Amino acid sequence: MHFDLKVYFLPELKKDKMRQFFLFLALISPFFINAQKLKKAEKAQLEYMTAQVQHLASDDLEGRRAGTDAEKKAAAYIQQQFQQNGITKTSIQNFDIYDGKKVDATSFFYIDEQELKLNSDFFPFPFTKATENIEALVSPALLEPNSTWIVDLGEIVKNETLHPHFDYMNAVKNYADQLAEKGVKAVIVYNKSKEIADLSFSAQDRTPVSKIPVIYVTKAAANKYLADPEQVYNLHFKAKVSDQYRTSQNVIAYLDRGAAKTIVVGAHYDHLGYGEDGNSTDRSGVKAIHNGADDNASGTAVLLQLSKSVQTFKTKDVNYLFIAFGAEELGLLGSKHYADNPTLNLSNVKFMINLDMVGRMKENQFTIGGFGTSPYWSTLFNQPNFLSDYKVNFDTSGVGPSDHTSFYRKNIPVLFFFTGSHTDYHKPSDDADKINYLGMLKITQLLEKVLSKGETATEIAFQATKEPTMGTRKFNVTLGVMPDYSYSGVGVKIDGVTEGRPGAKAGIKAGDIILKIGDIATNSMDGYMNALGSFEKGQSTIVIVKRGEEEIKLPIEF
Ligand SMILES: [Zn+2]
Repeated sequence: MHFDLKVYFLPELKKDKMRQFFLFLALISPFFINAQKLKKAEKAQLEYMTAQVQHLASDDLEGRRAGTDAEKKAAAYIQQQFQQNGITKTSIQNFDIYDGKKVDATSFFYIDEQELKLNSDFFPFPFTKATENIEALVSPALLEPNSTWIVDLGEIVKNETLHPHFDYMNAVKNYADQLAEKGVKAVIVYNKSKEIADLSFSAQDRTPVSKIPVIYVTKAAANKYLADPEQVYNLHFKAKVSDQYRTSQNVIAYLDRGAAKTIVVGAHYDHLGYGEDGNSTDRSGVKAIHNGADDNASGTAVLLQLSKSVQTFKTKDVNYLFIAFGAEELGLLGSKHYADNPTLNLSNVKFMINLDMVGRMKENQFTIGGFGTSPYWSTLFNQPNFLSDYKVNFDTSGVGPSDHTSFYRKNIPVLFFFTGSHTDYHKPSDDADKINYLGMLKITQLLEKVLSKGETATEIAFQATKEPTMGTRKFNVTLGVMPDYSYSGVGVKIDGVTEGRPGAKAGIKAGDIILKIGDIATNSMDGYMNALGSFEKGQSTIVIVKRGEEEIKLPIEF
């Protein structure tokens, strides 16, 4: 699952020990009570999926971070499972993930034949134009066109640095580009300013490439090697910055029956590793493996189980493509890559089903997204007894925080199964012992019904849905609350509140249902997003919440 963390999940939710204890009982007890009542085939499914989650979420796979050996190991394991499940056509689809910039090892810098050390003494700016060997005799006091210039950073930025988010990279690049117009060959920027801290190389810098090479000399090196601005220095340097990539992979299993149409079932198997990509919600500062049992070993386990299940269906007139996506947590990268580089003609895909976080079912409740992407879905789910005792919260949108979005964007009907968020979301505590395995079995059984009915359905037309604003907008304010995604009534139900944040300060409590923020009704997540988007830090307003049968007005300051 890949949410905009700032909006949805705020760190440091205070742990309610009692609640966790009861939750634990609720998850464990049905397993023991009902396990004996299960049929033999159901028991086998339960055992299979439990083993998959336990393996994928084990420390051995180190949190399956995209582009790491641990993710590759998980991919190889999943491919092997598909093969064991009787699917002969399996493959690994590799793709590159941009991993920032890196100074090329061929870069060097000499001043008067003394070698400067990369990073501690000098570095090329991340946006620098690459250069071959350049030799120049220059004095900071005597700057001539058609030469290399040595310039103090303080001179370049003048007094603009007073505003707090000053972009040094952009200022230096613009300065260098102006000098390029005058015929200057390269710029050496040193920093003797008391007011400006030393710059450092930022791998994530996105400043466009400059017209001439630009190199930074640190304060320490400038004091040592460029102490006298009147002196002429003999410079010899070469600068090169290159893009870095790591490789992730999708695992593809094709049950090819030579049929005209194919059903795609997908689940991402990557997770956060140790949280190196900055997408953890853990703020403890302790380096720990994020096992991602619910997110998304659970969906992967159901995917693997379904690759077995569909082979037992009576009808055989459709192909199945099972995909375990990599790099979902970095922004749906694996599914985007597949949708842009498909292994089959996407116009022959009947529909796509995505499973992301299906391991925390509570009281038979869960969410099915993509409901509005085909009129067929309402026909299917409205059949008598189709949903039996499931309590489903339907979400119409084809766009959401997971991989079905990539297929919806290709005009393919989608469904997205999700059992709701929780306080372990994107934390090292999303572990296998907290999974509701019986809930996963129930989801699998419903999916088997959806797939076998979907196989024989003749017309599953695509339908565009209203674009929600979820996950893509940037907000200036947050409440510091966690919405309950399994809640299907009016308003936004709150599952948790972070101490010290505006929501908690205003007196919002877990269990409250937010009906209105200011003048904007928060009937749905969309309304809630719109309401938050309309405020700035420091503003205040009234939040109306429903607590039990009572409606309460709470003044709030963002
Ligand atoms: Zn996630």
